[in-house]
Amino acid sequence: MRHPYASVSPHMTPAASETPYPHLFAPLDLGFATLRNRVLMGSMHTGLEDRARDFPKLAAYFSERAAGGAGLIVTGGFAPNVVGWLTPFGGKLSWPWEVAPHRQVTRAVHEHGARICMQLLHAGRYGYHPLQVAPSRLKAPINPFTPRALSARGVERQISAFASAAARAREAGYDGVEVMGSEGYLINQFTAPRTNKREDAWGGSAEKRMRFAVEIVRRVREACGPDFILIYRLSLLDLVEDGNAWDEIVAQARAVEAAGATIINSGIGWHEARVPTIATSVPRGAFAGITARLKPHVSVPLVAVNRINMPEVAEGILAAGQADMVSLARPLLADPEWVNKARGGRARAINTCIACNQACLDHVFENKVASCLVNPRAVAETELNYLPATVKKRIAVVGAGPAGLACSTVAAQRGHAVTLFDAAGEIGGQFNLAKRIPGKEEFHETLRYYGHLLEETGVEIRLGTRVGPAELAGFDEIVLATGIAPRRVDFPGADHPMVVSYLDVLSGRASVAGRVAIIGAGGIGFDVGEFLVQEGESPSLDPVRWRAEWGVDLDGDGRGGLARPQPEPAAREVWLLQRSPGRPGARLGKTTGWIHRATLKAKGVKMLGGVEYLGGDDDGLRIRIDGAEQLLPVGSVVVCAGQEPQRELQAALQAAGATAPVHLIGGADVAAELDAKRAIAQGSRLAAGF
Ligand code: FAD
Ligand code: NAP
Ligand code: SF4
Repeated sequence: MRHPYASVSPHMTPAASETPYPHLFAPLDLGFATLRNRVLMGSMHTGLEDRARDFPKLAAYFSERAAGGAGLIVTGGFAPNVVGWLTPFGGKLSWPWEVAPHRQVTRAVHEHGARICMQLLHAGRYGYHPLQVAPSRLKAPINPFTPRALSARGVERQISAFASAAARAREAGYDGVEVMGSEGYLINQFTAPRTNKREDAWGGSAEKRMRFAVEIVRRVREACGPDFILIYRLSLLDLVEDGNAWDEIVAQARAVEAAGATIINSGIGWHEARVPTIATSVPRGAFAGITARLKPHVSVPLVAVNRINMPEVAEGILAAGQADMVSLARPLLADPEWVNKARGGRARAINTCIACNQACLDHVFENKVASCLVNPRAVAETELNYLPATVKKRIAVVGAGPAGLACSTVAAQRGHAVTLFDAAGEIGGQFNLAKRIPGKEEFHETLRYYGHLLEETGVEIRLGTRVGPAELAGFDEIVLATGIAPRRVDFPGADHPMVVSYLDVLSGRASVAGRVAIIGAGGIGFDVGEFLVQEGESPSLDPVRWRAEWGVDLDGDGRGGLARPQPEPAAREVWLLQRSPGRPGARLGKTTGWIHRATLKAKGVKMLGGVEYLGGDDDGLRIRIDGAEQLLPVGSVVVCAGQEPQRELQAALQAAGATAPVHLIGGADVAAELDAKRAIAQGSRLAAGF
């Protein structure tokens, strides 16, 4: 049986004049403007917002998304003033000379019939600089800086800054602004009792706490006139203690509507929340229910957000009347053509966002320009292009893992004759193991996408073929994308039958017995841990179970939308071990590592650092930590100790006297710290140069 994420149902091939997603492609009349469809490209920081010299790149990036069919685009956040900066010298719009560079962006988007709003984001206590301000002098748990509490005049100055930034946005050609009132930024800090301890006109009662938000909307509307789109991003679920209660959120929605908001966008979770909101393990559409809950209370269009990555999910939300628009942020980073492909019934051709955060959010948190793991061209549109090849070549690619798939499809797209070999009977390499991890079901989509693209670009595929030099004769270029071999461990008893590799466990070749110790606590060790403690269907495929596990309450009246987390029992007892001292998992992804650590902790996995492996036998695994020996009474030891490059073929080709240039990519090139982001980017860039 095919995995639900591995296929797109065949009924989605419409007659040319129709779309299989009628709700998604119904125009939306705002009274003074009509949006061509229901897709709002959600705000995302790319790292190009901060310097005017990067605006031509930003324009090219948005231009592709507008040409790709998005109805309404929202930029990354721009601060209305210096104290509202997210980071020092971050993007802002407070001076007249800051207007002109934006015209390149607005013009580029309008040329393709889309509309664009600038997001106005005042970071408040999330500002990563010492000038930050907030309603009260309370430090955020995720920021070393303590904010200065605003005086009453200071509050007034922030409101004016929003209004004048919005007026400047209009001058720059924007069709509107999105006022960022969620995610725990300044406005949200005013509305929530968690961060607003004021007792003046801007705090105390719920009504006074929301006054700041309402005044901003009123003054922006006043400054920009009636025919200007004003999206208000309202936090529908704070997911923190002492957040807003549901009746307060409804009151805020009504008040911002009355003050002049055109559209209300949903905000889910503060950045300091300890509940995942967009990671790959969050079920698709998991939060649409909270937008639906607000629907009866307002009459402006509402936008559903988070983990809406495929057209059937978007259409389902709209058809059920849960929202009037859907926000797609990362999915349009992954595939700028997403909307056009959906409209034309070509969902199979969509390069799906797998919600890994590895090249987008993780980059932004590391102060690097964003990109996309499955699409290295994202935010590199002016620099990485797959132009038709001037000389057509015969290219052999050995290995159909992410590196080989990217390389062969880009080369074939450019007009080369490509043959792709793999020893396995299916494409995908290690992604076929990754997709079995609970919470990584989205990896099926990447394999579906590449399967389609191989067909579309005419790559000749030879599966079940372990390649030697003989098969590679006659090619102009040879690409070795043969991946890795798991590193073997060396301690007494390492050859005991209970010691197995992650490859064998995840592929089903080896089974584990009773309690289990995992050697190696890198990304794969954690994944194997999640695989071993989960029995039956993953909660990532079931929003109700997933919300119960993480303590998310869409229906209650409690503050912050939180409930008591109810983790499902672990399928078995597991130890996760590493030799390095300190906390296992410290090197996992910036925005997702904490989720993996929390998941295993909730399942009772014992995570130990500073471990010395003394030996394994029928009694279990003997280890030493801080000089103290102990016996872990396990029946299986799964080795996840990293990998070595697999490139024997290179030497064999040399020995056979092959004359064609040989290129190494992905794990075959460097196995250390290999991930699919590097494998796909390296494969794509190599092929762009053939
Ligand atoms: P591989 O995927 O290893 O592919 C190599 C291919 O070459 C294989 O299909 C093999 O059969 C074939 N081959 C080898 N020798 C020959 C030969 N002589 N002839 C023919 N074919 C040959 N990465 C991330 O970025 N994010 C994640 O969340 C993530 N999760 C993971 C979870 C798990 C459980 C695992 C195992 C890996 C995960 N990875 C993740 C890592 C990611 O899968 C790898 O970085 C990526 O697959 C490397 O790609 P590659 O093309 O270099 O090699
Ligand atoms: P890894 O991250 O390098 O981790 C290897 C682990 O094995 C470490 O904990 C290491 O810790 C231990 N180890 C290394 N040599 C050992 C030895 N000789 N004996 C015993 N233990 C040893 O490798 P990985 O977990 O295999 O992951 C491979 C790549 O896949 C990673 O680079 C990662 O980026 C990618 N990946 C990413 C994700 C993700 O979610 N982003 C998920 C899975 C995989 P000690 O040396 O301290 O023991
Ligand atoms: Fe989606 Fe990952 Fe690409 Fe970010 S890097 S857009 S999460 S696929």
